[in-house]
Amino acid sequence: MTTTNEIRRKFLDYFGRHDHEIVQSAPLVPRNDPTLLFTNAGMVPFKNVFTGQEHRGYSRAVSSQKCVRAGGKHNDLENVGYTARHHTFFEMLGNFSFGDYFKERAIELAWLLVTQELGLPKEKLIATVYADDEDAYQLWRKIAGLPDDRIIRIGTSDNFWSMGDTGPCGPCSEIFFDHGPDLPGGPPGSPDEDGDRFIEIWNLVFMQYDQPEPGQKVDLPRPSIDTGMGLERIAAVLQGKHDNYDIDLLRCLIENSAELSGVDPDGEFRASHKVIADHLRATTFLMADGVLPSNEGRGYVLRRIMRRAMRHVHKLGVREPMIYKMVPELTQLMGEHFPEIRRAEALVTETLKMEEGRFQETLDRGLRLLEDETAKLGQGGTLPGDVAFKLYDTYGFPLDLTRDILRGEELGLDEQGFEAAMEEQRRKARAAWAGSGEQADEKVWFAIRDHFGATEFLGYDTDAAEGAI
Ligand code: ATP
Ligand code: MG
Ligand code: MG
Ligand code: MG
Repeated sequence: MTTTNEIRRKFLDYFGRHDHEIVQSAPLVPRNDPTLLFTNAGMVPFKNVFTGQEHRGYSRAVSSQKCVRAGGKHNDLENVGYTARHHTFFEMLGNFSFGDYFKERAIELAWLLVTQELGLPKEKLIATVYADDEDAYQLWRKIAGLPDDRIIRIGTSDNFWSMGDTGPCGPCSEIFFDHGPDLPGGPPGSPDEDGDRFIEIWNLVFMQYDQPEPGQKVDLPRPSIDTGMGLERIAAVLQGKHDNYDIDLLRCLIENSAELSGVDPDGEFRASHKVIADHLRATTFLMADGVLPSNEGRGYVLRRIMRRAMRHVHKLGVREPMIYKMVPELTQLMGEHFPEIRRAEALVTETLKMEEGRFQETLDRGLRLLEDETAKLGQGGTLPGDVAFKLYDTYGFPLDLTRDILRGEELGLDEQGFEAAMEEQRRKARAAWAGSGEQADEKVWFAIRDHFGATEFLGYDTDAAEGAI
């Protein structure tokens, strides 16, 4: 069996042999892009190279980039546990051409890699092209010899990439793998394309236009290439699994979770093990790149990820901190390629242990409250927004945590009601402050509240403890 670590190596070496500079993964916190929460694609660290603002000593590059998609434009947090192919943390393998080779060579390099180097059977592969991109369509016929019914034209934004309202953009072409008719789901572009049968493995972006103004398109003088292939997805294909969570690396983590909890890894609670394994990776890699749990910004996204995992630990019947015990297994598995997680091992373990311990009691009490409330609802009912707000405000339940629990029971959530309750609390806080006669302690309290948003059950201690981590 080819291990995930070997596949990463093969990808880097292959493009290295084809004159690509092998570039280390950049950190998950983007260095020069305050608009972006986390690095969510391989091209992010090269943004300024594509736009020409930055020059490097090479015009071709290859990387395996750490990515987190748990907030902002790309948010897969709520997919984890439900789909076979999504993680919050994953690695994106990518080759890049900065005004060097273009469409034809990009398709050729990709096709040779998947069919020759990695040995995938041609008849299980499908390519999609942007509806208007006749060049790409013809190139797939010529280079891959794919029949017409396996080159699918897609007219939606799925096959048209842009950096933003302005800047570089262009059509995409994606490679899908057919995991076979035993699995549900239709081919790309069909109404049931989100099933597990046809899995998107590689996205090739042909940056050929610039948008000086929104909606305006002019040809780029030197078009570029940006590609992204999910390491875990290609590993699943090569390891004969249809579910990313069955690849060597994630399987080890799931077994670790099963061992620690004493709960069957493949039974009724499989989804919980998947969530724990995935969120452990996101948590560890984010902390190793300097993000610490807090009540705002990136730190709050991290806290949401951690609490979602903790709730699944609770679901497995474990009533003491558990996830922190899995950190050594992860560093063992991935620390060779990513030494930063080795260096951060003690910090991650301690922080996780503390966060898990702190959330335990409120989680337990919040879940009981939620249970009482959902018992009052009929089948397919909707949880009132003020209850979700109480869970958030008093018990530290991020909204997506509540949503995740309700979804498991096929219940809805009154999100507008939640927003209204939140707004009402802000209003009251402001009013109370204004009429408080400026007592110093209250002033401090509301300043903290405004700064951090709604506070949690742990109140002052939470914020004080933050600095101590
Ligand atoms: P999907 O449609 O499956 O959500 P995507 O179109 O959002 O994927 P892209 O933005 O095109 O994904 O990213 C390029 C590649 O990165 C994808 O083809 C896939 O192999 C991989 N990828 C994207 N999101 C994830 C994820 N959440 N977990 C694992 N791999 C991912
Ligand atoms: Mg997606
Ligand atoms: Mg897609
Ligand atoms: Mg895609």
